[in-house]
Amino acid sequence: MQLYNTLSAKEREQLIDEAGKDRLTLSFYKYAHISKPKEFRDQLFLTWNKIDVLGRIYIAPEGINAQLSLPADNFELFKAHLDTITFLKNVRLNIAREQYNKSFLKLKIKVRDKIVADGLNDSTFDVTDKGIHVGAEQFNKLIDDENTIIVDMRNHYESEIGYFKNAITPDVDTFRDSLPIIEKDLKDYKEDKNLVMYCTGGIRCEKASAYFKHKGFKNVYQLEGGIIEYARQVKDHGFENKFIGKNFVFDDRRSELITDDVIAHCHQCGNPCDVHTNCANDACHLLFIQCEDCREEMNNCCSSYCKDIYALPDKEQKELRKGQGNSNDIFKKGRADYLPFKKDLRNIFEILSKKSS
Ligand SMILES: [Zn+2]
Ligand SMILES: [Zn+2]
Repeated sequence: MQLYNTLSAKEREQLIDEAGKDRLTLSFYKYAHISKPKEFRDQLFLTWNKIDVLGRIYIAPEGINAQLSLPADNFELFKAHLDTITFLKNVRLNIAREQYNKSFLKLKIKVRDKIVADGLNDSTFDVTDKGIHVGAEQFNKLIDDENTIIVDMRNHYESEIGYFKNAITPDVDTFRDSLPIIEKDLKDYKEDKNLVMYCTGGIRCEKASAYFKHKGFKNVYQLEGGIIEYARQVKDHGFENKFIGKNFVFDDRRSELITDDVIAHCHQCGNPCDVHTNCANDACHLLFIQCEDCREEMNNCCSSYCKDIYALPDKEQKELRKGQGNSNDIFKKGRADYLPFKKDLRNIFEILSKKSS
């Protein structure tokens, strides 16, 4: 039984090119009790590998979180297989707006303690007591309400390139960090304000809304299906679009365009730019925003230090990386102190005072 990838990313890329077939990128998640995650994982791998699914999937006793791509021709087969799994029958599939055949180059299905690293002890609160789910139309109404505080549950590098107008975008690197910070900053608004939250595809809000209710917030709402589903509904039904910029996504496309507004800046020169890239020096792999001019000048690197290393022969670079682990798995953020231009932080109190004035 082949339970792991045998092809390199390069070989896979070649196969995709040779096949010349359109692939679909999609994501879904489900909180559900999975008693034998490892066995479930192996079953999925065997079935999905056969129908050429690629992606990053997390399985935990609490459920499944999947971002993947597959040949469009195999979609019905894939859907039929999902429907054979009781808790995935009719699960909402978030299909990407912008398709890219190489959004994923490997099938990685990993068993984790949790499907989202939230740092919460779930036994201390009722995770099923969630916020009220709202669709795009109701979400628009809610965020127009003066009594609403809208919170972006994503990390700073995601909201840096796109967010909902008037949203609070916490300056955090991880979801886990964001929960206590938001609770503390909003502690005076638990009773009377609407706390309206959103994230990429909805999964983070599923847990966060229950957590904030547990912490005493009375009116908690969450955007069903996240920005991905919002964008779809806005387009299909002609609703007003209140999202500005790009939606950051966790595959090789890196983002989906929602509006043409470029709200971020190149981290090196400060010019308007919202294109994320990873530093070409594999030992660094820093995720940051770089414009085309800087890309050329810095040879795809984040600093002169990395540029120098990247200029060394492959063998020497590998020698330098020895013992450092696989840097490709390290998803670093655009925070390095030497990057001169970083995000204008949107101060929560500034937003709240503007709202009340
Ligand atoms: Zn630049
Ligand atoms: Zn670097």
